[in-house]
Amino acid sequence: MIRDQETLNILLASIRRFVREQLVPHEQQVAETDEIPPALVAQMRELGLFGLSIPEQYGGLGLTMEEEVLAAFEIARTSPAFRSLFGTNNGIGSQGILIDGTEEQKNAWLPRMASGEIVGSFALTEPGYGSDAGSLTTSAVRDGDHYIINGTKRYITNAPEAGVFTVMARTDATRKGPGGVSAFIVERGTPGISLGKKDRKMGQQGAHTCDVIFENCRVPASCIIGGKEGQGFKTAMKVLDKGRLHISAICVGVAERMLEDALRYAMERQQFGQPIAEFQLIQAMLADSKAEIYAARSMVLDAARRRDNGEDIPTEASCCKLFASEMCGRVADRSVQIHGGAGYVSDYAAERFYRDVRLFRIYEGTSQIQQLVIARNMIKAAGA
Ligand SMILES: Cc1cc2nc3c(=O)[nH]c(=O)nc-3n(C[C@H](O)[C@H](O)[C@H](O)COP(=O)(O)OP(=O)(O)OC[C@H]3O[C@@H](n4cnc5c(N)ncnc54)[C@H](O)[C@@H]3O)c2cc1C
Repeated sequence: MIRDQETLNILLASIRRFVREQLVPHEQQVAETDEIPPALVAQMRELGLFGLSIPEQYGGLGLTMEEEVLAAFEIARTSPAFRSLFGTNNGIGSQGILIDGTEEQKNAWLPRMASGEIVGSFALTEPGYGSDAGSLTTSAVRDGDHYIINGTKRYITNAPEAGVFTVMARTDATRKGPGGVSAFIVERGTPGISLGKKDRKMGQQGAHTCDVIFENCRVPASCIIGGKEGQGFKTAMKVLDKGRLHISAICVGVAERMLEDALRYAMERQQFGQPIAEFQLIQAMLADSKAEIYAARSMVLDAARRRDNGEDIPTEASCCKLFASEMCGRVADRSVQIHGGAGYVSDYAAERFYRDVRLFRIYEGTSQIQQLVIARNMIKAAGA
């Protein structure tokens, strides 16, 4: 749903300009230093990028899902590490509070996330439980009007920068599955929280992950999202449904950028006395990429519109995540191939993007988990 086309066009044009004029020229520097310059972060705040999907009443831009994916198409036409910094505030870092939080919790955290004053992180994965997150073992034991949290969360995006964590922990030790899990809002600096060292990743330098360790971390009972025990896994899954659409849109945007770079290179690079773009085998790679990007873009827009219309879209969100992230990997591979040797060395962006986009098939549910979700929902619907 697009609320006001003219206002949206202005926003999309400013994002496009910011990406082209400010972010693209800094890609290589960020990849080398593993840091996003503070001046760029300040500009992201000014543009409202930290609060794209947070409602206006909490200081965000309140974009609908369709508007958000259109914005994500633009944001993604550069290194995905830039998006990662404000991505958690719009997605997994804020949505748990937004979807299931009490009014008090929303008022306490969302305005600060929308402005970019603080970064929110989402802590579900553990060393022993990734895809099988419903079996997590981080514990939260009631002690009067507090809970005491113990456990380790792994690969947590933006943890080194985070001001607040949404932490999934087991409040009911007698229930081993998802039903025993609750979601907590835990402020950085709470005694008992410590961070591991930054992970050394394959790509997306400038975006940081690390372990978050809870040792007898005492939080008030009012920190449970929605105030009710046992709802945390459901909250996490709702958050991921939306997050999967957002990531799918990012896959489309990055793929468009990679294809644009590959096409430009193919038209400039000469072999056998002509631009390589004239060779039909190169054209096949360009055409397949174009068609697949178009398919993913159409899927993402359709699912976003359905969500805006109030439909429940877990199957569609998983279809989008599966197709768009796998498509993005294929486009990255073809882009390297079209660049030849230049695609394997770091003078061109193709090599960096190839590493950066590998993550999309892994986090917020691997491709195999998306397949399981889709098939499980199909079987359930057929039996109903
Ligand atoms: C850079 C990065 C950032 C991340 N950010 C966050 C974050 O902010 N918050 C957070 O909570 N987590 C985060 N994660 C964790 C991420 O979501 C998990 O890594 C992912 O869900 C996979 O879990 P795993 O690594 O434990 O792999 P595993 O679950 O061990 O999977 C290993 C392989 O087995 C396959 N597999 C597992 N179960 C099945 C099955 N039933 N059927 C078929 N195949 C199966 C998987 O598809 C995969 O191929 C991040 C990870 C990375 C790398």
